[in-house]
Amino acid sequence: MHVTALSGGVGGARFLRGLTTHLARTSDLADTTLTVIGNTGDDITLFGLRVCPDLDTLLYTLGGGVHEGQGWGRADDTAAVQTELAALGVQPQWFGLGDRDLGTHIARSLWLGQGHTLSEVTARLADRWGLPDGGITLLPMTDTPVETHVVVDEGEGPRAVHFQEWWVRMRAAVPAQRFLVVGMERATAAPGVLDAIRKADVVLLPPSNPVVSVGIILGVPGVRDALRGTQAPVIGVSPLVGGRPLRGHADACLRAIGVETSSAAVAGLYADFLTGWLVDDSLDEVGEAPAGVHVRRRPLLMRDLDSAADLAGAALGLGLELRRR
Ligand code: GDP
Ligand code: CA
Repeated sequence: MHVTALSGGVGGARFLRGLTTHLARTSDLADTTLTVIGNTGDDITLFGLRVCPDLDTLLYTLGGGVHEGQGWGRADDTAAVQTELAALGVQPQWFGLGDRDLGTHIARSLWLGQGHTLSEVTARLADRWGLPDGGITLLPMTDTPVETHVVVDEGEGPRAVHFQEWWVRMRAAVPAQRFLVVGMERATAAPGVLDAIRKADVVLLPPSNPVVSVGIILGVPGVRDALRGTQAPVIGVSPLVGGRPLRGHADACLRAIGVETSSAAVAGLYADFLTGWLVDDSLDEVGEAPAGVHVRRRPLLMRDLDSAADLAGAALGLGLELRRR
């Protein structure tokens, strides 16, 4: 069996680590393969290095090297380079890059500079983390450099800043007026992306940010059509627990696109291709799911590996059930 997932960083990676744990624990699913299509809209060039935060979070989490407390970056990392850059007055200082983490960005930038595509570079990094051994293929959504920018107004008129500046430096406290995905107009899906959706047995949407993670992937030409056309059930997991996003400012992103912070409204963003939808069981806010979508209530909080594995197992189980119908 083959499963394909569309993922952002921390929320997606935790869910997918739960999925691989569930697969390894379930004997008749043990030879299932997984393709993860990662968001690259968060990518940024810092100090001349190309940084891909969501791909790196996926690599480190699925590869067993993530800083568990943060959910991103490397475990046991140090900050010697960043401290020296600060002493030199080099900007920006609001984006945390650990020393080991910098190794990833240096290697990526070197290989990109030698003419390799982001897909090729990501495959090399995935080798370093042993993902192929686990039946996992990590694909960037596109090899075309794209960057999500955010239009904000801090009192001096509207201006666009990089998504990371809004998210990390401003902590999304300045209202976003809209999102622009610079470069998307000439982007094409990376090799294997559209086929992974079309030929999957089940497609999963982890509880990633619906606007700046999943929403950006959906904007890659061909992805939405592939989701509409695939024979596979498409099962989504709401990123809202108790009616609120966890770890992140998904509500600020939803507000910017004029969508209310409710699971029903998030499902509405996927209405044209969604088959099944898991919502949190702690509130009665199921609301009106789009017509034809099978809604299940579950505890959606991933508090540890076991709860993430249970959640991913429930999502996959719903997919397998709907596939048989
Ligand atoms: P990012 O790229 O690092 O921001 O990560 P993602 O886009 O993949 O995921 C961010 C989303 O994950 C946020 O909107 C959170 O609400 C959601 N999230 C984080 N932890 C959990 C959890 O335990 N359960 C659920 N259902 N959603 C979660
Ligand atoms: Ca992200």
